[in-house]
Amino acid sequence: MRIYDIILKKRNGGELSESEIVFFIKGFTNGEISDYQASALLMAIFFEGMNERETATLTMEMAKSGDMVDLSEIPGIKVDKHSTGGVGDKTSLIIAPIAAACGVPVAKMSGRGLGHTGGTVDKMEAIPGMRTSLSQTEFFDIVKNIGCSIIGQTGNIAPADKKLYALRDVTATVDNLSLIASSVMSKKLAAGSDAVLLDVKTGSGAFVKKLENAIALAREMVMIGENNGRKMLSLVTDMDNPLGHAIGNSLEIIEVCDVLNGRGSEDLTEISIELAANMLYLAEKGGLTECRRLAENALESGAAFNKLCEMVMAQGGDVSYLKNTEKFPTAKVIGELKTSRGGFIGKMNSEAFGTAAVALGAGRKKLGDEIDFAAGIILKKKTGERVEAGESLATLQASDKSQIEEAKVILKDAVEIGETMPAVNPLILARVSKDSIERY
Ligand code: URA
Repeated sequence: MRIYDIILKKRNGGELSESEIVFFIKGFTNGEISDYQASALLMAIFFEGMNERETATLTMEMAKSGDMVDLSEIPGIKVDKHSTGGVGDKTSLIIAPIAAACGVPVAKMSGRGLGHTGGTVDKMEAIPGMRTSLSQTEFFDIVKNIGCSIIGQTGNIAPADKKLYALRDVTATVDNLSLIASSVMSKKLAAGSDAVLLDVKTGSGAFVKKLENAIALAREMVMIGENNGRKMLSLVTDMDNPLGHAIGNSLEIIEVCDVLNGRGSEDLTEISIELAANMLYLAEKGGLTECRRLAENALESGAAFNKLCEMVMAQGGDVSYLKNTEKFPTAKVIGELKTSRGGFIGKMNSEAFGTAAVALGAGRKKLGDEIDFAAGIILKKKTGERVEAGESLATLQASDKSQIEEAKVILKDAVEIGETMPAVNPLILARVSKDSIERY
């Protein structure tokens, strides 16, 4: 078998056989297939697509390229969660503690920022001392003793995805449904949880911009998980607007603490309750209404905030920053994004806000860049709110004035202001299970 023939077959719209996919993943993971040939195949897949059988085979091969974690020594139904990537999406740090506070163990591997989207691991590292790379024994012990632990993807979990992901990031092949599905699900299958809740984002700040494509992606991932013995659910949620008011690492940790202390943004609180309720549902804690009530109680009683503190302490983080968020260092330079016209905020281009946050120093422009944890954006206004000419829409935080100027250029046309109050999208657009697709 030759990789050349596999590239040619896909380039010409052919369907790859199981043995061709196995040959590609094995050869690429062990270094026998070069990056340039893998890139060519990725681009052919991007244009020609893959059917469900090819996607399922690719996913399994990527999952099996490294360790398949066995979580059976941790008692209870282990529930994982994965988002396809958003702007201001800090929900994992809210809902893993909620689930743990309700007795559902969460052993979660998260990612770093990607393109214009942020990553949970980067956010956690904004807490001084926080360790996101733990041995398997320590990871398991924290889940057993506290109920949740979130760490970075270890070197041997789906290494094929790690390598392919890095290539996709630099070859403009991220936003393909089969490639996203196999990337997400290979990690989730390898990470060993019994059930998985997916949060498929759609809208201007998501990799999948159209609702119908997001539902198709959710359905494909749900079926891959179910066919491999996992209980699966997916919510399809709005990413036309950044989530909450904070974009950037320590700013988002502060917002996580605000939500867990009952004073967070309405949209972020609402979506967190809904995601947490669906995790509890997967863990068989009751019907959805009961699970919602359990999630709200964990939030209101402070039990979920205590869980976050326990998890952070167990992973070496300085909990005093969570209890007194004013301790987080502030950015050196602060600018305001002002509007020249008054009216109602209509569309916000979330991708532009994510890209601006990266320009401010909250993300990496190239591999290995250092993150400025204090950098980012605080939104003062969101879709549907009224603004006056000259008012500030957002505070921009960076370490250098030139970064503020760059962000302002990126955000020049990112907010539409109109005469009339716009319709605001619902936060949850659909719920997909193996048996049904409910649209809201
Ligand atoms: N998140 C992932 O893990 N993989 C993708 O391809 C996109 C988002």
